[in-house]
Amino acid sequence: MKPPPFEYRSAHDSTETVELLTEYGDDAKILAGGQSLVPLMNFRMARPSVLIDINQTQDMTGIREDDGHLVIGAMARQRVLERDPTAGVAVPLLPAALAHTGHTTNRNRGTFGGSLAHADPAAELPALLVAMGGELTVKGPSGTRIVPAEDFFLAPLTTTLAYNEILVSARLPRLPSGTGTAVEELARRHGDFAIVSVMAAVHLDSNGRADLVRLAAGGVDSTPIRLHEAESVLSGGTLDETSIDAAATAAADASHPVDDVHGTASYRRDMVRVLVARAIRSAIANR
Ligand SMILES: Cc1cc2nc3c(=O)[nH]c(=O)nc-3n(C[C@H](O)[C@H](O)[C@H](O)COP(=O)(O)OP(=O)(O)OC[C@H]3O[C@@H](n4cnc5c(N)ncnc54)[C@H](O)[C@@H]3O)c2cc1C
Repeated sequence: MKPPPFEYRSAHDSTETVELLTEYGDDAKILAGGQSLVPLMNFRMARPSVLIDINQTQDMTGIREDDGHLVIGAMARQRVLERDPTAGVAVPLLPAALAHTGHTTNRNRGTFGGSLAHADPAAELPALLVAMGGELTVKGPSGTRIVPAEDFFLAPLTTTLAYNEILVSARLPRLPSGTGTAVEELARRHGDFAIVSVMAAVHLDSNGRADLVRLAAGGVDSTPIRLHEAESVLSGGTLDETSIDAAATAAADASHPVDDVHGTASYRRDMVRVLVARAIRSAIANR
């Protein structure tokens, strides 16, 4: 399949990208790794009249630590991020989640920011950002604004980005050493989009009580969801089978999946319960 005709522009940096988006308006689309946009164009499900290629930009690529946070440029390739030692130590969920994100060839081209901006509710990176309480830096004509991950995703394939704004980076808190993390996912085949995915991070204090619990799920609502109720069940307590089961039930109750060809809503909700319990146990074991 070939895409419909489009005008091609290449931007040199994020500022020029914003200028071009403002000039062309709603008809323009940013081209990053092309792993979601190009298939959509080939299937005629997206018909932008102008593509603004940001692959030549240099100001959105880095992965660095800053004041207890990991800062990841939107144009960091998923495969580079997956293998980055700093990122893997600061947020061990990253390499684990990226191992489930499509296939190596997709991750060679696909970008961190492209996955977030695309906002598929079943995608791993959006769920990870929500689990970690990440913040996104968005640039528009009047400067930058910071958006908490839970406010960034509005609906399937819809974010808070205005037509002339670009995602430039995201910031994730570094996890304390000794934090256990786990990604549990149900998919038809490895590399397929998740039917249900769960991200978990758990840290215990010297008395064995949970002083950090982060849980999120993908594929079970119109956006990835932070599982606040389940976190509350576990926070401050010793994690035993009773509290893990209670947290898993709270997570299932907080999910709002729908029926589709991959599974019924009740099946998905039950998988949230199973995968949350499994993820918490794995996170405890991985500390
Ligand atoms: C075979 C296959 C399997 C896949 N499996 C999975 C999977 O299991 N899990 C998963 O999460 N993903 C999966 N993907 C999707 C993949 O992760 C994409 O790379 C990602 O969704 C989009 O990133 P991209 O850089 O390719 O963005 P593009 O496709 O270039 O862009 C996607 C959208 O984001 C916009 N955009 C891109 N960058 C920015 C930015 N910086 N600011 C604002 N808007 C921007 C574009 O305009 C477009 O609307 C799969 C893809 C393929 C082809």
